[in-house]
Amino acid sequence: MSESKFRAIIIGGGPVGLTIANGLDRAGLDFLIIERHTSIVSESGAGIMAWPHTVRIFDQLGLTAVCEGRYIPVHSKTSIRLDGTQTRTGRIFEYLSDNHGYPCMNFSRPLLVQTLLDGLGANSTSKIRTGVAIKDIEMTKNGVRVHLTDGSFEDGAIVIGADGVHSRTRDIMQRLAEEAGEGFAKEEEPIVSNYQIFYGRAKYVPKVEVGNFFETHGTYRSSQISADKNRMHFGIYRKLPTPTTDLKKEYSKDEVAEFVEAFSDVMVMPNLSFTELYENCEWTRLVNQHEGLMKHWHYGRVVLAGDSCAQMTAAVGLGVNNGIQSAVFLVNKIQGVLSNNSNPDTETLGRAFEEYQNIRREESRVICEIAAKSIRVNTWDSYMAWFLGDIIFPWMVSDEKMMTTASNRLVRGAHKFDFIQADLKSGKIPWVSS
Ligand SMILES: Cc1cc2nc3c(=O)[nH]c(=O)nc-3n(C[C@H](O)[C@H](O)[C@H](O)COP(=O)(O)OP(=O)(O)OC[C@H]3O[C@@H](n4cnc5c(N)ncnc54)[C@H](O)[C@@H]3O)c2cc1C
Repeated sequence: MSESKFRAIIIGGGPVGLTIANGLDRAGLDFLIIERHTSIVSESGAGIMAWPHTVRIFDQLGLTAVCEGRYIPVHSKTSIRLDGTQTRTGRIFEYLSDNHGYPCMNFSRPLLVQTLLDGLGANSTSKIRTGVAIKDIEMTKNGVRVHLTDGSFEDGAIVIGADGVHSRTRDIMQRLAEEAGEGFAKEEEPIVSNYQIFYGRAKYVPKVEVGNFFETHGTYRSSQISADKNRMHFGIYRKLPTPTTDLKKEYSKDEVAEFVEAFSDVMVMPNLSFTELYENCEWTRLVNQHEGLMKHWHYGRVVLAGDSCAQMTAAVGLGVNNGIQSAVFLVNKIQGVLSNNSNPDTETLGRAFEEYQNIRREESRVICEIAAKSIRVNTWDSYMAWFLGDIIFPWMVSDEKMMTTASNRLVRGAHKFDFIQADLKSGKIPWVSS
Protein backbone atom coordinates (compact mmCIF):
# COMPACT_ATOMS: atom_id res chain seq x y z
CA MET A 1 0.00 0.00 0.00
CA SER A 2 1.39 3.45 -0.84
CA GLU A 3 1.95 5.88 2.00
CA SER A 4 -1.03 8.21 2.65
CA LYS A 5 -1.02 11.62 4.37
CA PHE A 6 -2.47 10.05 7.48
CA ARG A 7 0.00 10.15 10.38
CA ALA A 8 -0.45 8.63 13.83
CA ILE A 9 1.47 10.17 16.73
CA ILE A 10 2.24 7.28 19.09
CA ILE A 11 3.08 8.36 22.63
CA GLY A 12 5.38 5.77 24.24
CA GLY A 13 8.01 3.51 22.70
CA GLY A 14 7.26 0.51 24.96
CA PRO A 15 6.20 -2.92 23.66
CA VAL A 16 2.67 -1.75 22.81
CA GLY A 17 3.66 1.49 21.08
CA LEU A 18 6.28 -0.39 19.04
CA THR A 19 3.79 -3.09 18.02
CA ILE A 20 1.40 -0.37 16.82
CA ALA A 21 4.26 1.22 14.87
CA ASN A 22 5.17 -2.13 13.28
CA GLY A 23 1.54 -2.71 12.28
CA LEU A 24 1.10 0.78 10.80
CA ASP A 25 4.42 0.42 8.99
CA ARG A 26 3.29 -2.85 7.38
CA ALA A 27 -0.01 -1.18 6.45
CA GLY A 28 1.92 1.59 4.68
CA LEU A 29 0.64 4.20 7.13
CA ASP A 30 2.78 6.96 8.54
CA PHE A 31 3.57 7.28 12.26
CA LEU A 32 5.81 9.04 14.74
CA ILE A 33 6.82 7.60 18.11
CA ILE A 34 7.41 10.04 20.99
CA GLU A 35 9.42 8.42 23.81
CA ARG A 36 10.35 10.38 26.91
CA HIS A 37 13.51 8.34 27.64
CA THR A 38 16.66 9.14 25.71
CA SER A 39 16.76 5.62 24.30
CA ILE A 40 13.98 3.24 23.25
CA VAL A 41 15.89 0.25 24.64
CA SER A 42 16.69 0.60 28.34
CA GLU A 43 19.54 -1.23 30.06
CA SER A 44 17.34 -3.07 32.55
CA GLY A 45 13.77 -4.28 32.69
CA ALA A 46 11.50 -7.07 33.88
CA GLY A 47 11.41 -10.61 32.53
CA ILE A 48 8.42 -10.69 30.18
CA MET A 49 6.80 -13.88 28.93
CA ALA A 50 5.49 -13.65 25.38
CA TRP A 51 2.67 -16.21 25.04
CA PRO A 52 2.09 -18.13 21.77
CA HIS A 53 -0.44 -15.58 20.46
CA THR A 54 2.19 -12.83 20.78
CA VAL A 55 4.83 -15.01 19.13
CA ARG A 56 2.35 -15.53 16.26
CA ILE A 57 2.29 -11.74 15.82
CA PHE A 58 6.10 -11.74 15.76
CA ASP A 59 5.86 -14.39 13.03
CA GLN A 60 3.49 -12.18 11.03
CA LEU A 61 6.02 -9.36 11.37
CA GLY A 62 8.84 -11.67 10.24
CA LEU A 63 10.58 -11.45 13.62
CA THR A 64 10.78 -15.04 14.90
CA ALA A 65 14.32 -15.58 13.55
CA VAL A 66 15.43 -12.36 15.29
CA CYS A 67 13.96 -13.69 18.56
CA GLU A 68 16.25 -16.72 18.64
CA GLY A 69 18.87 -16.49 21.39
CA ARG A 70 17.12 -13.48 22.92
CA TYR A 71 14.77 -15.27 25.32
CA ILE A 72 14.96 -17.83 28.11
CA PRO A 73 13.35 -21.03 26.77
CA VAL A 74 10.95 -22.61 29.27
CA HIS A 75 9.30 -26.02 29.14
CA SER A 76 8.07 -26.72 32.68
CA LYS A 77 6.61 -25.01 35.71
CA THR A 78 7.19 -26.10 39.31
CA SER A 79 5.16 -24.76 42.23
CA ILE A 80 6.58 -24.79 45.74
CA ARG A 81 5.62 -23.51 49.19
CA LEU A 82 7.61 -20.84 51.02
CA ASP A 83 9.75 -23.54 52.67
CA GLY A 84 10.67 -25.03 49.27
CA THR A 85 8.35 -28.07 49.43
CA GLN A 86 7.24 -28.95 45.91
CA THR A 87 3.47 -29.08 45.34
CA ARG A 88 3.29 -29.48 41.57
CA THR A 89 5.47 -29.79 38.51
CA GLY A 90 4.63 -30.28 34.86
CA ARG A 91 5.62 -29.43 31.30
CA ILE A 92 2.95 -26.78 30.92
CA PHE A 93 4.85 -24.61 28.43
CA GLU A 94 5.29 -27.62 26.15
CA TYR A 95 1.52 -28.17 26.22
CA LEU A 96 0.98 -24.54 25.21
CA SER A 97 3.47 -24.86 22.39
CA ASP A 98 1.88 -28.13 21.17
CA ASN A 99 -1.57 -26.52 21.34
CA HIS A 100 -0.67 -23.52 19.18
CA GLY A 101 2.48 -24.24 17.17
CA TYR A 102 4.46 -21.46 18.87
CA PRO A 103 6.51 -21.55 22.10
CA CYS A 104 6.32 -19.13 25.02
CA MET A 105 9.35 -16.81 24.86
CA ASN A 106 10.61 -15.49 28.17
CA PHE A 107 12.31 -12.21 27.20
CA SER A 108 13.96 -9.53 29.24
CA ARG A 109 12.17 -6.25 28.49
CA PRO A 110 15.21 -4.71 26.72
CA LEU A 111 15.46 -7.65 24.31
CA LEU A 112 11.70 -7.70 23.69
CA VAL A 113 11.78 -3.99 22.91
CA GLN A 114 14.92 -4.41 20.75
CA THR A 115 13.14 -7.12 18.74
CA LEU A 116 10.15 -4.88 18.02
CA LEU A 117 12.51 -2.02 17.20
CA ASP A 118 14.36 -4.28 14.75
CA GLY A 119 10.99 -4.89 13.10
CA LEU A 120 10.81 -1.24 12.14
CA GLY A 121 14.06 -1.30 10.19
CA ALA A 122 16.64 1.40 9.59
CA ASN A 123 14.28 3.57 7.49
CA SER A 124 12.08 4.19 10.50
CA THR A 125 14.64 5.91 12.73
CA SER A 126 13.41 9.28 11.45
CA LYS A 127 9.98 8.27 12.81
CA ILE A 128 11.13 8.04 16.42
CA ARG A 129 11.79 11.03 18.69
CA THR A 130 13.39 10.21 22.04
CA GLY A 131 14.18 12.30 25.11
CA VAL A 132 11.00 14.28 24.82
CA ALA A 133 7.57 13.75 26.41
CA ILE A 134 4.02 14.70 25.59
CA LYS A 135 2.85 17.91 27.26
CA ASP A 136 -0.52 18.65 25.71
CA ILE A 137 -2.80 17.95 22.76
CA GLU A 138 -4.73 20.45 20.64
CA MET A 139 -7.50 18.74 18.76
CA THR A 140 -9.00 20.36 15.67
CA LYS A 141 -11.74 19.17 13.32
CA ASN A 142 -9.16 17.61 10.99
CA GLY A 143 -6.25 16.58 13.16
CA VAL A 144 -4.15 16.91 16.26
CA ARG A 145 -1.19 19.02 17.33
CA VAL A 146 0.87 17.34 20.05
CA HIS A 147 2.86 19.78 22.18
CA LEU A 148 6.07 18.38 23.61
CA THR A 149 8.09 19.17 26.71
CA ASP A 150 10.94 20.76 24.73
CA GLY A 151 8.57 23.41 23.36
CA SER A 152 8.23 21.83 19.90
CA PHE A 153 5.11 20.21 18.45
CA GLU A 154 4.13 17.46 16.02
CA ASP A 155 1.04 17.40 13.81
CA GLY A 156 -0.89 14.28 12.94
CA ALA A 157 -4.31 12.79 12.29
CA ILE A 158 -4.61 10.90 15.61
CA VAL A 159 -2.77 10.43 18.91
CA ILE A 160 -2.33 6.92 20.32
CA GLY A 161 -1.53 6.87 24.03
CA ALA A 162 0.73 3.85 24.66
CA ASP A 163 2.48 5.63 27.51
CA GLY A 164 1.90 3.10 30.25
CA VAL A 165 0.11 3.08 33.56
CA HIS A 166 0.91 6.71 34.42
CA SER A 167 -0.33 7.81 30.98
CA ARG A 168 -0.16 11.54 30.46
CA THR A 169 -2.10 11.05 27.21
CA ARG A 170 -4.96 9.56 29.27
CA ASP A 171 -4.95 12.59 31.58
CA ILE A 172 -5.03 14.99 28.65
CA MET A 173 -7.76 12.97 26.92
CA GLN A 174 -9.89 13.09 30.07
CA ARG A 175 -9.34 16.85 30.36
CA LEU A 176 -10.32 17.43 26.72
CA ALA A 177 -13.48 15.38 27.27
CA GLU A 178 -14.21 17.30 30.48
CA GLU A 179 -13.85 20.63 28.64
CA ALA A 180 -16.36 19.36 26.08
CA GLY A 181 -18.81 18.54 28.87
CA GLU A 182 -18.14 14.78 29.06
CA GLY A 183 -17.50 13.52 32.59
CA PHE A 184 -14.91 10.88 31.62
CA ALA A 185 -12.62 11.14 34.63
CA LYS A 186 -15.50 10.99 37.13
CA GLU A 187 -16.76 7.78 35.56
CA GLU A 188 -13.47 5.94 35.98
CA GLU A 189 -12.85 3.46 38.79
CA PRO A 190 -9.52 4.27 40.48
CA ILE A 191 -6.41 2.28 39.61
CA VAL A 192 -5.43 0.48 42.81
CA SER A 193 -2.28 -1.22 44.07
CA ASN A 194 -2.86 -4.24 46.29
CA TYR A 195 0.59 -5.79 45.82
CA GLN A 196 4.25 -4.82 45.68
CA ILE A 197 6.71 -6.49 43.34
CA PHE A 198 10.46 -6.70 43.85
CA TYR A 199 11.90 -7.68 40.48
CA GLY A 200 15.25 -7.92 38.84
CA ARG A 201 17.97 -9.93 37.20
CA ALA A 202 20.59 -12.10 38.86
CA LYS A 203 23.68 -13.94 37.72
CA TYR A 204 23.12 -17.61 36.97
CA VAL A 205 23.80 -19.80 40.01
CA PRO A 206 25.22 -23.11 38.69
CA LYS A 207 22.97 -25.43 40.77
CA VAL A 208 19.83 -23.86 39.28
CA GLU A 209 17.73 -25.88 36.83
CA VAL A 210 17.30 -24.09 33.50
CA GLY A 211 14.11 -24.20 31.44
CA ASN A 212 11.88 -24.56 34.49
CA PHE A 213 9.69 -21.69 35.72
CA PHE A 214 9.47 -21.78 39.52
CA GLU A 215 6.59 -20.25 41.45
CA THR A 216 6.43 -20.00 45.25
CA HIS A 217 3.02 -19.78 46.95
CA GLY A 218 2.38 -18.74 50.55
CA THR A 219 0.43 -16.41 52.79
CA TYR A 220 0.61 -12.89 51.29
CA ARG A 221 3.94 -13.76 49.63
CA SER A 222 4.81 -15.34 46.30
CA SER A 223 7.68 -15.48 43.80
CA GLN A 224 8.39 -16.36 40.18
CA ILE A 225 11.80 -17.09 38.68
CA SER A 226 13.33 -18.70 35.61
CA ALA A 227 16.87 -19.09 34.35
CA ASP A 228 19.11 -19.95 31.45
CA LYS A 229 22.86 -20.48 31.75
CA ASN A 230 23.56 -16.73 31.73
CA ARG A 231 20.90 -15.05 33.87
CA MET A 232 17.89 -15.39 36.12
CA HIS A 233 14.80 -13.16 35.97
CA PHE A 234 12.51 -12.96 38.96
CA GLY A 235 9.53 -11.19 40.53
CA ILE A 236 8.75 -11.36 44.26
CA TYR A 237 5.23 -10.34 45.32
CA ARG A 238 3.90 -9.18 48.68
CA LYS A 239 0.42 -8.05 49.61
CA LEU A 240 0.32 -4.45 50.81
CA PRO A 241 -1.11 -3.92 54.32
CA THR A 242 -3.72 -1.60 52.78
CA PRO A 243 -4.60 -1.00 49.13
CA THR A 244 -3.37 2.33 47.78
CA THR A 245 -4.09 4.63 44.85
CA ASP A 246 -0.63 6.21 45.22
CA LEU A 247 0.51 4.94 41.83
CA LYS A 248 3.90 6.57 41.75
CA LYS A 249 5.10 5.32 45.13
CA GLU A 250 8.92 5.40 45.27
CA TYR A 251 10.44 3.04 47.82
CA SER A 252 13.35 4.20 49.96
CA LYS A 253 16.51 2.17 50.67
CA ASP A 254 15.17 1.36 54.14
CA GLU A 255 11.88 0.11 52.71
CA VAL A 256 13.75 -2.09 50.24
CA ALA A 257 15.91 -3.43 53.09
CA GLU A 258 12.76 -4.24 55.07
CA PHE A 259 11.31 -6.09 52.06
CA VAL A 260 14.50 -8.11 51.58
CA GLU A 261 14.56 -9.01 55.27
CA ALA A 262 10.90 -10.08 55.14
CA PHE A 263 11.79 -12.72 52.51
CA SER A 264 14.91 -14.08 54.25
CA ASP A 265 12.99 -17.27 55.16
CA VAL A 266 11.61 -17.85 51.65
CA MET A 267 12.76 -20.38 49.05
CA VAL A 268 12.33 -19.27 45.43
CA MET A 269 13.30 -22.72 44.12
CA PRO A 270 13.52 -26.00 46.04
CA ASN A 271 17.32 -25.48 46.22
CA LEU A 272 17.62 -21.67 46.08
CA SER A 273 16.70 -19.29 48.87
CA PHE A 274 15.66 -15.70 48.28
CA THR A 275 18.76 -14.62 50.23
CA GLU A 276 21.08 -16.48 47.85
CA LEU A 277 19.21 -15.06 44.87
CA TYR A 278 19.56 -11.56 46.31
CA GLU A 279 23.32 -12.01 46.78
CA ASN A 280 23.62 -12.68 43.03
CA CYS A 281 21.47 -9.79 41.85
CA GLU A 282 22.78 -7.46 39.13
CA TRP A 283 19.93 -5.00 39.58
CA THR A 284 16.59 -4.88 41.43
CA ARG A 285 13.55 -2.64 41.70
CA LEU A 286 10.69 -2.44 44.21
CA VAL A 287 7.42 -0.98 42.90
CA ASN A 288 3.69 -1.22 43.41
CA GLN A 289 1.69 -3.31 40.96
CA HIS A 290 -1.43 -1.72 39.50
CA GLU A 291 -4.87 -3.18 38.94
CA GLY A 292 -7.52 -1.35 36.93
CA LEU A 293 -9.50 -1.14 33.71
CA MET A 294 -10.47 2.20 32.23
CA LYS A 295 -14.02 2.71 31.03
CA HIS A 296 -13.07 5.23 28.33
CA TRP A 297 -10.37 4.26 25.85
CA HIS A 298 -10.88 7.08 23.34
CA TYR A 299 -12.12 10.60 22.85
CA GLY A 300 -12.17 12.49 19.56
CA ARG A 301 -8.88 11.77 17.81
CA VAL A 302 -7.15 10.36 20.91
CA VAL A 303 -7.13 6.62 21.64
CA LEU A 304 -5.37 4.54 24.32
CA ALA A 305 -3.73 1.08 24.24
CA GLY A 306 -1.77 -1.14 26.63
CA ASP A 307 -1.16 -0.32 30.29
CA SER A 308 -2.61 3.16 29.77
CA CYS A 309 -6.10 1.61 29.75
CA ALA A 310 -5.76 -1.90 31.29
CA GLN A 311 -3.54 -2.71 34.26
CA MET A 312 -2.97 -6.04 36.02
CA THR A 313 -0.29 -7.63 38.18
CA ALA A 314 2.44 -9.64 36.47
CA ALA A 315 1.36 -12.89 38.21
CA VAL A 316 -0.12 -14.48 35.11
CA GLY A 317 2.28 -12.77 32.69
CA LEU A 318 -0.32 -11.24 30.41
CA GLY A 319 0.00 -7.43 30.60
CA VAL A 320 2.12 -7.07 27.46
CA ASN A 321 0.36 -9.94 25.70
CA ASN A 322 -2.98 -8.24 26.30
CA GLY A 323 -1.62 -4.84 25.29
CA ILE A 324 -0.25 -6.30 22.06
CA GLN A 325 -3.71 -7.72 21.33
CA SER A 326 -5.10 -4.18 21.68
CA ALA A 327 -2.32 -2.87 19.44
CA VAL A 328 -3.15 -5.40 16.72
CA PHE A 329 -6.91 -4.85 16.93
CA LEU A 330 -6.49 -1.07 16.86
CA VAL A 331 -4.18 -1.15 13.84
CA ASN A 332 -6.65 -3.44 12.04
CA LYS A 333 -9.41 -0.89 12.69
CA ILE A 334 -7.27 2.05 11.52
CA GLN A 335 -6.13 0.16 8.43
CA GLY A 336 -9.75 -0.78 7.67
CA VAL A 337 -10.91 2.84 7.89
CA LEU A 338 -7.96 4.16 5.86
CA SER A 339 -8.40 1.57 3.11
CA ASN A 340 -11.77 3.21 2.30
CA ASN A 341 -10.92 6.83 3.00
CA SER A 342 -7.44 8.35 3.21
CA ASN A 343 -8.67 11.32 5.23
CA PRO A 344 -11.34 10.08 7.65
CA ASP A 345 -13.27 12.65 9.72
CA THR A 346 -13.43 12.59 13.51
CA GLU A 347 -16.84 10.85 13.53
CA THR A 348 -15.60 8.00 11.30
CA LEU A 349 -12.50 7.54 13.47
CA GLY A 350 -14.66 7.75 16.60
CA ARG A 351 -16.87 4.88 15.39
CA ALA A 352 -13.81 2.70 14.74
CA PHE A 353 -12.32 3.60 18.15
CA GLU A 354 -15.64 2.88 19.89
CA GLU A 355 -15.78 -0.59 18.35
CA TYR A 356 -12.14 -1.14 19.33
CA GLN A 357 -12.85 -0.01 22.89
CA ASN A 358 -15.97 -2.12 23.33
CA ILE A 359 -14.41 -5.34 22.07
CA ARG A 360 -10.97 -4.97 23.60
CA ARG A 361 -12.24 -3.68 26.96
CA GLU A 362 -14.43 -6.75 27.38
CA GLU A 363 -11.58 -9.07 26.36
CA SER A 364 -9.24 -7.22 28.73
CA ARG A 365 -11.77 -7.46 31.56
CA VAL A 366 -11.60 -11.27 31.33
CA ILE A 367 -7.78 -11.20 31.38
CA CYS A 368 -7.67 -8.70 34.27
CA GLU A 369 -10.01 -10.92 36.29
CA ILE A 370 -7.86 -14.00 35.66
CA ALA A 371 -4.73 -12.05 36.63
CA ALA A 372 -6.44 -10.78 39.80
CA LYS A 373 -7.48 -14.30 40.81
CA SER A 374 -4.02 -15.72 40.06
CA ILE A 375 -2.11 -13.35 42.34
CA ARG A 376 -4.66 -13.95 45.12
CA VAL A 377 -4.39 -17.73 44.75
CA ASN A 378 -0.58 -17.54 44.67
CA THR A 379 -0.50 -15.42 47.83
CA TRP A 380 -3.18 -17.46 49.67
CA ASP A 381 -5.26 -14.34 50.04
CA SER A 382 -8.11 -16.27 51.67
CA TYR A 383 -8.76 -19.76 52.98
CA MET A 384 -10.51 -20.60 49.70
CA ALA A 385 -7.61 -19.25 47.62
CA TRP A 386 -5.19 -21.49 49.55
CA PHE A 387 -7.51 -24.49 49.27
CA LEU A 388 -7.91 -24.06 45.51
CA GLY A 389 -4.26 -23.30 44.76
CA ASP A 390 -2.55 -25.70 47.12
CA ILE A 391 -4.97 -28.62 47.27
CA ILE A 392 -7.63 -28.70 44.55
CA PHE A 393 -5.73 -27.56 41.45
CA PRO A 394 -2.58 -29.69 41.92
CA TRP A 395 -4.50 -32.86 42.78
CA MET A 396 -7.58 -32.66 40.61
CA VAL A 397 -6.67 -30.72 37.45
CA SER A 398 -3.98 -32.28 35.26
CA ASP A 399 -1.42 -29.98 33.61
CA GLU A 400 -2.70 -30.95 30.19
CA LYS A 401 -6.30 -30.11 31.13
CA MET A 402 -5.24 -26.86 32.77
CA MET A 403 -3.34 -25.75 29.67
CA THR A 404 -6.18 -26.80 27.35
CA THR A 405 -8.44 -24.50 29.38
CA ALA A 406 -5.85 -21.69 29.24
CA SER A 407 -5.45 -22.22 25.48
CA ASN A 408 -9.19 -22.08 24.86
CA ARG A 409 -9.81 -19.07 27.11
CA LEU A 410 -6.72 -16.97 26.53
CA VAL A 411 -4.96 -17.91 23.31
CA ARG A 412 -6.94 -19.52 20.49
CA GLY A 413 -9.28 -16.56 19.95
CA ALA A 414 -6.38 -14.07 19.76
CA HIS A 415 -6.32 -11.40 17.07
CA LYS A 416 -3.68 -11.12 14.36
CA PHE A 417 -3.05 -8.45 11.73
CA ASP A 418 -5.86 -8.84 9.16
CA PHE A 419 -3.87 -7.38 6.29
CA ILE A 420 -0.53 -9.21 6.65
CA GLN A 421 -0.38 -12.44 4.67
CA ALA A 422 2.08 -14.93 6.17
CA ASP A 423 2.41 -18.68 6.41
CA LEU A 424 1.53 -19.07 10.10
CA LYS A 425 1.79 -22.12 12.33
CA SER A 426 -0.89 -23.90 14.30
CA GLY A 427 -1.07 -26.80 16.75
CA LYS A 428 -3.57 -29.18 18.27
CA ILE A 429 -6.04 -26.38 19.05
CA PRO A 430 -6.79 -24.44 15.84
CA TRP A 431 -6.72 -20.64 15.90
CA VAL A 432 -10.10 -18.94 15.51
CA SER A 433 -8.53 -16.40 13.11
CA SER A 434 -6.30 -18.71 11.08
C1 LIG B 1 8.12 -7.32 37.04
C2 LIG B 1 7.14 -7.34 35.90
C3 LIG B 1 7.00 -8.49 35.17
C4 LIG B 1 6.11 -8.53 34.10
N1 LIG B 1 5.98 -9.68 33.40
C5 LIG B 1 5.13 -9.74 32.37
C6 LIG B 1 5.02 -10.94 31.60
O1 LIG B 1 5.68 -11.96 31.86
N2 LIG B 1 4.16 -10.94 30.55
C7 LIG B 1 3.40 -9.86 30.23
O2 LIG B 1 2.61 -9.93 29.27
N3 LIG B 1 3.48 -8.71 30.95
C8 LIG B 1 4.33 -8.63 32.01
N4 LIG B 1 4.43 -7.46 32.73
C9 LIG B 1 3.58 -6.31 32.39
C10 LIG B 1 4.20 -5.47 31.28
O3 LIG B 1 5.49 -5.04 31.64
C11 LIG B 1 3.31 -4.28 30.94
O4 LIG B 1 1.99 -4.72 30.75
C12 LIG B 1 3.84 -3.62 29.65
O5 LIG B 1 5.13 -3.09 29.84
C13 LIG B 1 2.90 -2.56 29.12
O6 LIG B 1 3.40 -2.08 27.90
P1 LIG B 1 3.05 -0.61 27.38
O7 LIG B 1 3.84 -0.44 26.13
O8 LIG B 1 1.58 -0.43 27.37
O9 LIG B 1 3.58 0.36 28.52
P2 LIG B 1 5.04 0.55 29.10
O10 LIG B 1 5.81 -0.70 29.00
O11 LIG B 1 4.87 1.17 30.43
O12 LIG B 1 5.70 1.58 28.09
C14 LIG B 1 5.28 2.92 28.07
C15 LIG B 1 6.33 3.75 27.36
O13 LIG B 1 5.87 5.09 27.30
C16 LIG B 1 6.89 5.98 27.73
N5 LIG B 1 6.25 7.16 28.29
C17 LIG B 1 5.61 7.27 29.48
N6 LIG B 1 5.13 8.50 29.65
C18 LIG B 1 5.47 9.21 28.55
C19 LIG B 1 5.24 10.55 28.15
N7 LIG B 1 4.61 11.42 28.94
N8 LIG B 1 5.71 10.94 26.94
C20 LIG B 1 6.39 10.07 26.12
N9 LIG B 1 6.64 8.79 26.48
C21 LIG B 1 6.18 8.35 27.67
C22 LIG B 1 7.68 5.17 28.75
O14 LIG B 1 8.98 5.68 28.94
C23 LIG B 1 7.65 3.79 28.10
O15 LIG B 1 8.71 3.60 27.21
C24 LIG B 1 5.33 -7.39 33.79
C25 LIG B 1 5.48 -6.22 34.54
C26 LIG B 1 6.39 -6.19 35.58
C27 LIG B 1 6.57 -4.92 36.36
